[in-house]
Amino acid sequence: MTTHELPAVSFQGVTRRYGNVSAVSDLSLDIARGEFFALLGSSGSGKTTLLMLLAGFDTPTEGQVLMSGKSVSDLPPHRRQIGVVFQNYALFPHLTAAENVAYPLKMRGVGRSERDERVKAALSLVNLTDRWASYPSQLSGGQQQRIALARALVFGPDILLMDEPLGALDRRLRDQMQQELKRIQHELGITVIYVTHDQSEAMAMADRIGIMAGGKLLQVADPESIYAAPSNHFVARFVGECSILRVNAWDGGLGYEIAGACQALPSRATAPFDIVVRPENVALHSASSSPVNPAFGIPATIRDITYLGAGWRVGLELSDGQFLLANVMRGDELAGSLVPGKSVVAQWASTAVAVLPSEEPSPNESFEELNHAIEKTA
Ligand code: ADP
Ligand code: MG
Repeated sequence: MTTHELPAVSFQGVTRRYGNVSAVSDLSLDIARGEFFALLGSSGSGKTTLLMLLAGFDTPTEGQVLMSGKSVSDLPPHRRQIGVVFQNYALFPHLTAAENVAYPLKMRGVGRSERDERVKAALSLVNLTDRWASYPSQLSGGQQQRIALARALVFGPDILLMDEPLGALDRRLRDQMQQELKRIQHELGITVIYVTHDQSEAMAMADRIGIMAGGKLLQVADPESIYAAPSNHFVARFVGECSILRVNAWDGGLGYEIAGACQALPSRATAPFDIVVRPENVALHSASSSPVNPAFGIPATIRDITYLGAGWRVGLELSDGQFLLANVMRGDELAGSLVPGKSVVAQWASTAVAVLPSEEPSPNESFEELNHAIEKTA
C-alpha cells in the first residue's frame, strides 16, 4: 500500500482514562485522506479528548494513534502536521490578524519573505485580506474565527481539527461559515475532523459522521445512512426527530404488528425489534375517509399540535397507547382541520421504517407516562 491509500488517521483500540473515568474507551476508527469527518455527541461524550489525543496534547492510556500508517506516539504536536481550531478562537490579543496567522510559521522557523507570502495567501483564503492590521478586539466573532482558521491552515497541515468552531456564532453566520468551510476544504483537499454537538451541522457538512456517547463510537456512517438506518435507540433519537415504537414481530421477523395493524418489512429483521418512524414519513387521514392503503392504518387521536411555519408537528396517541409524531404540511388532507382530540388514521410505507434491536426499558413512553414526566418537570 502507498501512503496515499493508508488512512490519514487510525485510532486503534484507544482508551484515555482520567482516574476511573474513561473519557475515550477502546475506540477504533479509520479516517480517509481528504475526508470531512464529523464527531457528533453531547457534552462529555469524549469528543475533545479524542482530538487532543490526535493532536498530541494528550497521550492514550492504551492503544495507539497512527497517521498515514505510522504511530505518532513519539511525535510532539508541532511535528504532527495538524492544524487546530477551537471554539473560543484562542487568538493572541496583542498581535494583529497578520501576526496571529504568521505565528505558526515563526515557530517553525520559516523566513520572512516566505512567511509574508503564506500569510497573504491564508488571509485571502478566508476572505480577510483587508483586515490584516486589525487586532482581535477590532474583529467580529465570525472574523476572529476566520483568522483562527487561517492560522491553523497557514503552515499547510495534512489534517485540520475543529472543536465546535462555530458554536459561538449566530445562526446566519454559522450557515455562511459552514458553506465557506466546505469550499476551503474542497480547495485544499485537506482531511477535516470536525467536532460538534449539533446534528444538523454534522448532516450538512460531513462525508461521514461518528456518533459518540460515553467515550465510545455508537455508529459511523454517511449522513443519509445514519438518518435512515440508525443502529440503536440512542442514535435514532440523537439525529433528527423520530418515534420509536414497540411492535410484535411475525413470521420470524418478516413483518410486524402494531395496534392490530400488520405490515411486511422490506427485509427480514431479527426479533425482538422496535421500529423507528420519522415524522415526515407519517401520513394522517381522517378516520372517516377511506385510507390510501386499507391494509395498514393505525387508529390514533391527536393530542397536541405545534405550528412550524412550513407545516405542523402533530403528537398522536395510538390506539395501543404509544406516542407518535407526524408532520402535516399545507395542502395535506388534514391541514385545515387539526384539533386536539380528533380521531385519525396514521400510515407509513414499509420502506420508511428502520428496525432497531429492542432495548429495555420501554423505548417510547406511553402518552400517560410522557404527560406524567412533563408534569413532574413543570
Ligand atoms: P466532550 O468534548 O465530548 O464534551 P470531553 O472529551 O471533554 O467531552 O470529556 C469526556 C469526559 O472526560 C468527561 O466526563 C470529562 O469530565 C472527562 N475529562 C476530560 N478531560 C479531563 C481531565 N483533564 N481530567 C479529568 N476528567 C476529564
Ligand atoms: Mg468538547
